[in-house]
Amino acid sequence: MFAVHLMAFYFTKLKEDQIKKVDRFLYHMRLSDETLLDIMARFQAEMEKGLGKDTNPTASVKMLPTFVRAIPDGSEKGEFLSLDLGGSKFRVLKVQVSEEGKRNVQMESQFYPTPNEIIRGNGSELFEYVVDCLADFMKTKDLKHKKFPLGLTFSFPCRQTKLEEDMDVDILALVNDTVGTMMTCAYDDPYCEVGVIIGTGTNACYMEDMSNIDLVEGDEGRMCINTEWGAFGDDGALEDIRTDFDRELDLGSLNPGKQLFEKMISGLYLGELVRLILLKMARDGLLFGGKKSSALLTKGKIETRHVAAMEKYKEGLANTREILTDLGLEPSEADCIAAQHVCTIVSFRSANLCAAALAAILTRLRENKKLVRLRTTVGMDGTLYKIHPQYPKRLHKVVRKLVPNCDVRFLLSESGSTKGAAMVTAVASRVQAQRKQIDKVLALFQLKREHLVSVQNKMRTELEYGLKKKTHPLATVKMLPTYVCGMPDGTEKGKFLALDLGGTNFRVLLVKIRSGRRSVRMYNKIFAIPLEIMQGTGEELFDHIVQCIADFLDYMGLKGAQLPLGFTFSFPCRQTSIDKGTLIEWTKGFKATDCEGEDVVDMLREAIKRRNEFDLDIVAVVNDTVGTMMTCGHEDPNCEIGLIAGTGSNMCYMEEMRNIELVEENEGKMCINTEWGGFGDNGCIDDIRTQYDKEVDEGSLNPGKQRYEKMTSGMYLGEIVRQILIDLTKQGLLFRGQISERLRTRGIFETKFLSQIESDRLALLQVRGILQQLGLDSTCEDSIVVKEVCGAVSRRAAQLCGAGLAAIVEKRRENQGLEHLRITVGVDGTLYKLHPHFSRILQETVKELAPRCDVSFLLSEDGSGKGAALITAVAKRLQQPRKEN
Ligand code: ADP
Ligand code: MG
Repeated sequence: MFAVHLMAFYFTKLKEDQIKKVDRFLYHMRLSDETLLDIMARFQAEMEKGLGKDTNPTASVKMLPTFVRAIPDGSEKGEFLSLDLGGSKFRVLKVQVSEEGKRNVQMESQFYPTPNEIIRGNGSELFEYVVDCLADFMKTKDLKHKKFPLGLTFSFPCRQTKLEEDMDVDILALVNDTVGTMMTCAYDDPYCEVGVIIGTGTNACYMEDMSNIDLVEGDEGRMCINTEWGAFGDDGALEDIRTDFDRELDLGSLNPGKQLFEKMISGLYLGELVRLILLKMARDGLLFGGKKSSALLTKGKIETRHVAAMEKYKEGLANTREILTDLGLEPSEADCIAAQHVCTIVSFRSANLCAAALAAILTRLRENKKLVRLRTTVGMDGTLYKIHPQYPKRLHKVVRKLVPNCDVRFLLSESGSTKGAAMVTAVASRVQAQRKQIDKVLALFQLKREHLVSVQNKMRTELEYGLKKKTHPLATVKMLPTYVCGMPDGTEKGKFLALDLGGTNFRVLLVKIRSGRRSVRMYNKIFAIPLEIMQGTGEELFDHIVQCIADFLDYMGLKGAQLPLGFTFSFPCRQTSIDKGTLIEWTKGFKATDCEGEDVVDMLREAIKRRNEFDLDIVAVVNDTVGTMMTCGHEDPNCEIGLIAGTGSNMCYMEEMRNIELVEENEGKMCINTEWGGFGDNGCIDDIRTQYDKEVDEGSLNPGKQRYEKMTSGMYLGEIVRQILIDLTKQGLLFRGQISERLRTRGIFETKFLSQIESDRLALLQVRGILQQLGLDSTCEDSIVVKEVCGAVSRRAAQLCGAGLAAIVEKRRENQGLEHLRITVGVDGTLYKLHPHFSRILQETVKELAPRCDVSFLLSEDGSGKGAALITAVAKRLQQPRKEN
């Protein structure tokens, strides 16, 4: 009993002593957490250097773009060929990827030898050989009748310029083995965005944001970067941690000075490092009684599989004795313990170094995504990682220690690289097919010049129809006389009340105009109009309006003041004088009953009477386009057009009286409110309307009406986008084919989101954030597609608006018999003002379609309010002499 204890004590003591001895001897190979954090930081800097355009040429870590932009989403299907050209073998593989999300992969493969002279020969010989093998494979597997997409794994560093390079096979995806590993794992786990190989060599790849990749054009989405991290330290960055053993090993290698990081890590070198250490220890008399064997002196005699065997949990010590004995040594128990510990230190250092670099990548991913915690998966492959008994555990533990804010899952890739090449090919072919479908949808929104010219011409026709007595009743563009005949001349002055009704809000304003300096002061209050009032009864609506006016007068201390009032009422009204306007029909979001066919000024007067608290002198009823034109005309006498691109779309302009058949007078000019939103209601632009426009129309309050407006204005653009997104999702091209409840909800996609999403300053991640807020869980690729959809819809809107405007300026030019026309357009509306591209595209379109007109655009500062006051002032001015007469 005592003897047993004594033995155990003796053994424990022996072990401790040996371990201490080796620990001391290899002190330099044992890396502290601090050192690992330091290496991690250095690798982060290396990645940055490799990605930068100017720094890449001198960077040792090359960060090669792979042109692999998407990971599998499970919808891949079909048959693919793949070739794996690795260090020692060459494999041809046929992979069948199943359909219906079963994530099932079947493979048939065949190995071919890779003759050294071919590997070392020139590129074209290699490719000829590859093609021969491929032909043989296709013949033996009876695949000659088909054309397959093909992927090629190539585990040597190589610069790719394009994923698909033609080689007489359909598609050729050239894939690095790390990428293959990542892709294979990503097929099973969509969180996988890193691939790491720890085998003969070591390397890693990960998905990087395109905006960070200087070497490739484009900023959208992500691309897989093959880091080629094995070369880390080739510029001397790791000299402080390299040991004499590393230097000795490097000098004896095929590529001295190269792949220095790899030489401390990978399977090709670990055994040799152990050999060099054991040899030195023997020389120093620390092992084998100072004796060496010729095998121990021979390069390559200890391989990494030996290291793995020596470190085995139970048989390790016995294995060590056997291995050392096979090397012609006569190891004591103490020697075996020491040798085993050497192996542990060497392989542990390897895991530590890998962990530090991997931690740097994970941190980069987390920072790219601006996340506090990152959940991600790393696809792993490589023989060292797979066969070494302790390696994976150690690696995982250190990574988790170095990046505590990442939840990392490690996933072993099955038959990694080759299957991965097929996956890359499958994804490329899926992406290509999807791209075609998406392009088909977007193409519906891409108007050619001839389309725009035709819109311009048709608009011109409708403008003329509206002006003529005979055709006016049937015209879709109503061309309503406004009885606004004079532009401000700068002599206007006084205090006015203005009302602005036409969008989502109602405003009451007090406007003070001072003559001479053309200065205007305004005070206003905004009141919400609840939906139930917008769509309730007319009496309720006007009572609400009067209530708001009362509030405002109270608020301004103006109770009892008898101010002239201008009423901006931005719906189509038939006017017979400046203070009479019969609502023809509601547009935009309004639907109050008993108003259509009624005079809005009368309705307002009656509501004031019902309230019986104050009286107002209603001088003018004004359309917002007219107010806008007037406001801008106050600054720029050349302004003879008013344009609104807000909730709705409309335009007004100054027309010669003689052309306005509905008004008797023939002298001077009058402003015409075109109400062009109704353009197309006779079907004349149905050739360019899409199914999505029709869906938006059918879901609106006024189906069949305002077709042009529904393609161009703020109230509808978001809805068009939503309809397209639903369709693309149905086709499986977005949101993993899942139509969420949110996406089904009318109105969730507001036009302001188009502005945000299309902003050039916005990174894709932010687009994703916006979509997330909308309850749309998007991938990176989804965000790109959504952005494209928004762009297509808003671009078309701006172009159509531009074509309409081109029609009017050309008309003005011809009517005045001018070779060249200079004219200013006063513009208002949030779509025009806040969308990042709308105004530019609109202006470009006008320029292109009306080259003989020099059109300036002047933004109106609160046209509806100021304009109403100015019109009221002008009307007052024109009234005065008549009264005096
Ligand atoms: P209205 O035309 O109703 O008098 P606006 O000119 O302010 O008022 O337009 C409001 C409309 O503008 C909203 O209904 C919405 O469709 C759109 N809109 C709001 N914010 C934005 C934005 N950031 N970018 C583009 N359109 C917007
Ligand atoms: Mg407005």
